[in-house]
Amino acid sequence: MASHVVSKGEKPHVVCVPYPAQGHINPMLKVAKLLHARGFHVTFVNTVYNHNRLLRSRGPHAVEGLPSFRFESIPDGLPETDVDVTQDITALCDSTMKNCLTPFKELLKRINAENDVPPVSCIVSDGCMSFTLDAAEELGVPEVLFWTTSASSFMAYLHFYLFIEKGLAPIKAEDYLTNEYLDTVIDFIPSMKNLKFKDIPSFIRTTNPDDIMLNFALRETERSKRASAIILNTFDDLDHDIIQSMNSILPPVYPVGPLHLLANRETEEGSELGKMGSNLWKEEMECLDWLDTKAPNSVIYVNFGSITVITAKQLAEFAWGLARSGKEFLWVIRPDLVAGEEAIVPPEFLTETADRRMLVGWCPQEKVINHQAIGGFLTHCGWNSMVESLCGGVPMICWPFFADQQTNCKYCCDEWGVGMEIGGDVRREEIEKVIRELMDGEKGKKMREKADEWRRLAEAATEHESGSSVVNFEKVVKVLLDRDQ
Ligand code: UDP
Repeated sequence: MASHVVSKGEKPHVVCVPYPAQGHINPMLKVAKLLHARGFHVTFVNTVYNHNRLLRSRGPHAVEGLPSFRFESIPDGLPETDVDVTQDITALCDSTMKNCLTPFKELLKRINAENDVPPVSCIVSDGCMSFTLDAAEELGVPEVLFWTTSASSFMAYLHFYLFIEKGLAPIKAEDYLTNEYLDTVIDFIPSMKNLKFKDIPSFIRTTNPDDIMLNFALRETERSKRASAIILNTFDDLDHDIIQSMNSILPPVYPVGPLHLLANRETEEGSELGKMGSNLWKEEMECLDWLDTKAPNSVIYVNFGSITVITAKQLAEFAWGLARSGKEFLWVIRPDLVAGEEAIVPPEFLTETADRRMLVGWCPQEKVINHQAIGGFLTHCGWNSMVESLCGGVPMICWPFFADQQTNCKYCCDEWGVGMEIGGDVRREEIEKVIRELMDGEKGKKMREKADEWRRLAEAATEHESGSSVVNFEKVVKVLLDRDQ
């Protein structure tokens, strides 16, 4: 029922609404920059909590914006705090779903009452913030949903309802996470082959029919069908068959990634837009100087993203695995990485590895991965990390934690040939062995070659006017302008 066609001479105005977590805000900011470069006035809506965190980590310029690129905020509905920690994802999903529509509608009303900005003409919202669809429909403007997860995991979420219909979820108590159950063959998701239950996003692993994340996934994917279009941070060559299948059950689905390549191509680094960043932790830039002193492909990079939490024992096993590998390493240890405790590595490990490691709390990851010294990435398989690694031609050691990461790991290792999985139960001997294999072994060499092939394909999708993601992005712009695609 979209009715607001942007008239000639009027600047289109897009409101971008990321889900309030790091791995969602980063790619949404890229989308916003790309739209701004195409003449859109942009309003970028963070939650109050993240808005304040950006202020603390990056200073006022992080949220000042430009006259034609403004930052606004709405409350997430959770109790207020000014401690910089990763929020509880389950509580956040539940809260945003229940509490954000009213403040969002009020914000739109306020913006539309302002004289110095064009009226809101479209919305790009995270797929996990589908309350925005209600506001878009009320306003009569098109809305594009951005699912920032991988195509494969989104496809799996879209079929969660079949797991319920087939009695595979919720899991019966006696089967809960037994090896036999995890190995159950899943052959009913179109275009996804050789899958087992363990490869499905972790939110399926519940015995509770009222589980918040199970029901959230069911609800948000169903509501996606109301969008004007859906975009994904992937490219056609990587996920062709899945996207074809999605197009038969959803509004038009456009792979427009890798977004960091597309956005970096169009934004000059030193420009006002180029400087606009979204990291919620302060980046420790000195790790780049350290990498400058290292030989090509010699350093293993270790980072578990913004949400993963590990135990003190796992931290120690990773530490000793890295130490025993004999390799140089850059390890990002977020201050809140260890559940309920300060993340402290064994002092003997620090002494033993003093001349071949750098530990930081947060890093400029895109730059790190693209540094020629990086030879491998030990990752939790967050989708942004995986895309960034593919584009850097960097092979991975996969240690999936939760959500879509199990599915990402499966595709990385078995379909794209660029990853090796390590078991959930971290053991130093295994870490040592896979690092050596990745950095020095025949398997690692093959994976590096494969990653390089994907890098070239990703570049081809984003670098030229005829690249598939460039063409798709133009189609999305037309949807947002409410013109025929
Ligand atoms: N990131 C970063 N520095 C770090 C760790 C992460 O800049 O030290 C960025 C990374 O480049 C990516 C995002 O934070 O864009 C993390 O998203 P991802 O999907 O990989 O994982 P999540 O944090 O959602 O688990």
